[in-house]
Amino acid sequence: MNLLSQRTHPTFHDHWEAIGAQERQSLVLKHLTEFIQFCRHRVPFYKDRLEGFQSQSPYPLKDIPVMTSDTLRELVPPISYDLLSEDTRDYTVFQSGGTTGFPKSTLFSHAELELLNLGNARGFFAMGLSADDRVGNLFAVGGLYMTFIHINRMLQQYGCMNFPFSNHTAVDFIHTATKLYNINCFAGITSVVLSALRGMSTMGMDGIQIKKVFYGGEHIYEADKIELREKFGVEVIGAPGYGTVDTWYIGYQCLHSPTGTFHAHDDQCYIEIFDEDENKHVSGEGVGMLYATPMVRRLTPIVRYRVGDRAQWLETPCECGRQTPRFRLLGRGDDVLRIGYDSVDYNFIQTIVAQFKELSGTIQMQKQRVDGRDQLVILIETESKNHSHLAQQIADEITNNRPTLRDHVKKQTVWPVHVHLVAPHTIERNVRTGKLIRVKDAVQEKHK
Ligand SMILES: [Zn+2]
Repeated sequence: MNLLSQRTHPTFHDHWEAIGAQERQSLVLKHLTEFIQFCRHRVPFYKDRLEGFQSQSPYPLKDIPVMTSDTLRELVPPISYDLLSEDTRDYTVFQSGGTTGFPKSTLFSHAELELLNLGNARGFFAMGLSADDRVGNLFAVGGLYMTFIHINRMLQQYGCMNFPFSNHTAVDFIHTATKLYNINCFAGITSVVLSALRGMSTMGMDGIQIKKVFYGGEHIYEADKIELREKFGVEVIGAPGYGTVDTWYIGYQCLHSPTGTFHAHDDQCYIEIFDEDENKHVSGEGVGMLYATPMVRRLTPIVRYRVGDRAQWLETPCECGRQTPRFRLLGRGDDVLRIGYDSVDYNFIQTIVAQFKELSGTIQMQKQRVDGRDQLVILIETESKNHSHLAQQIADEITNNRPTLRDHVKKQTVWPVHVHLVAPHTIERNVRTGKLIRVKDAVQEKHK
């Protein structure tokens, strides 16, 4: 079936996005209640664990323990089968990260994989994908990775022209195919899409115009967006799907979504934002940790998964008219380095570097410790050759914008910030996914 045919309103991909707040809340609660009953009934692990479910409370899951990535690992194959709701082999095993030994795995029944296409297509539709588009899929494939294959499936169902490159195709081949078939969209993680475009531009962009970039898998920064727009003429840049392979699609962007903000797939995934310091749900637009309960995952039901991202609800309605609630992501809880008494956020570094037009957003932030003192080291990829002055200028800009850091540098309890401008493709990437390693705590790694 063509997923576009489910459209019921010109603005909406499906009816769910148009439902008002009150009816929405009652339908979500009904779905959640049914899901919790399913878990208690079908998965022995949950029988007692979910006893505290309160269907009448505004926060029905507040007394239920949080599921961490480590807990989840202990409950699924290859370690155990405790989380499986049925004895079946009708599923696909994916990996969800992990760098040593057997990868962390996650199981999707084949029915669940089909269901995933709805969330996926809803996001692509909201980001302006049309059936006339010609899409190069550059997502990661192989090694039990999930994204490429379900983007591929969704594109087929969506009904647009589909080019399954993956992240393994040589740039000159992408260049040739893009020109021959007039490919006008790329989908992939930002660093892979950017690297493909940069490589293609060295071969000449005559007759090539990528108008839409659909990214996912990692955050995009202003410097990347500026490069895509100004250097490559991209007009639409957005994330059709935010989610994790341990949970589900959690949110999606629309054409009105600023970087980092998403509409929630609240029909599929129950979301909480929880202030772990105060031990309560946030109120208003307060910041907390994101917990997700993917109500549609039934083979290995997962309740209150701690995603690891910080987030806040947005109270103003979106200009696009969609009624699905909105949230803003504020980076990984662990995208922060403690330098002396200052907590330096990766986003902050990106914001500073974005002021320097000639630099890319391909940046790594490191914490090092030399002679008992912390040092913040920043690596930035650039083609610019004017290194020495620029590096010092950026280091000064970082220091001057952080009073705590500045004081400690002055008192010599922390080393001055060091910025290295390096050649393109020299910062370390995850060898399997191609994802940039953005934050590195050399001190912690030494003690592992
Ligand atoms: Zn919107």
